[in-house]
Amino acid sequence: MLFKEVIGHKELKASLIQSIIDGRISHAQLFLGSEGSGNLALALAYIQYIYCENKGKQDACGVCPSCRKIQQLSHPDLHFSFPVIKSGKEGETADEFIAEFRKAIIEDPYINLLNWYEYLGNQNKQGIISVKESNHIIKKLSLKSFEGGFKCYLIWMPENLNSAAANKLLKTIEEPPDKTIIILVANDSEQIIPTILSRTQLVKLARLSNVEIAEGLIEAFETEKQLAENLAAMSEGNYFQARNLALNAGENNENFVFFRDWMRLCFKKNIKGVSNWVDDISKIGRAQQKDFLKFALHLLRQCALSNYNVEGLITIKGDERVFMQNFAPYINHLNFEDYITLFSEAQSHIDRNANAKILFTDLSYQLLVLLKAASDQLKK
Ligand SMILES: [Zn+2]
Repeated sequence: MLFKEVIGHKELKASLIQSIIDGRISHAQLFLGSEGSGNLALALAYIQYIYCENKGKQDACGVCPSCRKIQQLSHPDLHFSFPVIKSGKEGETADEFIAEFRKAIIEDPYINLLNWYEYLGNQNKQGIISVKESNHIIKKLSLKSFEGGFKCYLIWMPENLNSAAANKLLKTIEEPPDKTIIILVANDSEQIIPTILSRTQLVKLARLSNVEIAEGLIEAFETEKQLAENLAAMSEGNYFQARNLALNAGENNENFVFFRDWMRLCFKKNIKGVSNWVDDISKIGRAQQKDFLKFALHLLRQCALSNYNVEGLITIKGDERVFMQNFAPYINHLNFEDYITLFSEAQSHIDRNANAKILFTDLSYQLLVLLKAASDQLKK
């Protein structure tokens, strides 16, 4: 990964580069940034720059043997640790999944945890970094470097270290063997034990600005400028999310169809239909359900906006626009917050592994009530 391939973070990149040029490479660092901030991408660019044999002033060369190996995530002195899903005796250490990990990360260094689990074929379980894995890390770091330079361990999502595994690592993080760099890449510092936090140097990624995200989308997908800006605005600093929305913004917007059908069924109080709809949405998997809820929140906000000014519906065209114009009157200043709360809570329940059928059934009934009240109000 080159620095120029990482979206935004201009100043942070410059200061990381300067620290390497000055030889100030801290032995334990925490690249902390929210989901979609690009913290993994930035950590990989940082590592590649360290190893590059022909560094420029602003980036690694991208073509030397070290760069190539880092780009393939196959440099013998670069090791990875990440949450895995245990199934029976198998699947306890990252090494068993390294091929999948390489593939997933090369394909998308902005990948989030849910999509990684989906990659592993099991998004309904929570991954862990186990004690066995901690022992692996310690053992690998005690070995000599293959190529005579630094040894580097990148631990992705250390939030998933269980406490025994985290405690095992403390001493190594505090005093790693010579010429060793440990890089933790995390989204949420509150889920990391304080004793680990206090032993790492913080590299904090600011939230990506809408402009940075829009530029990233235009560069990657040639997204039309206005659409890119709108997607950026709704993605709240999460490039992973923005990109999914961009990929989904075409004519066959599955999320829109799901939303439209759902609202119609709730509106008609079609209980059988709602139950079938819940069956369908339960099958698409957690990552997509989360995307869907995010999309639904966006539509609700657009509806609220359009009640003040129809031109607010700029990101919505064609069929969607007709539906939204009909639907918007049911979103008003009295119930808007209720909708937002319902959908936001549903999002966090999905994060916490809630049963999708129960969650969407419950949500449907609450929507039914909200829509009924809104409809009564309109009749007055
Ligand atoms: Zn190079």
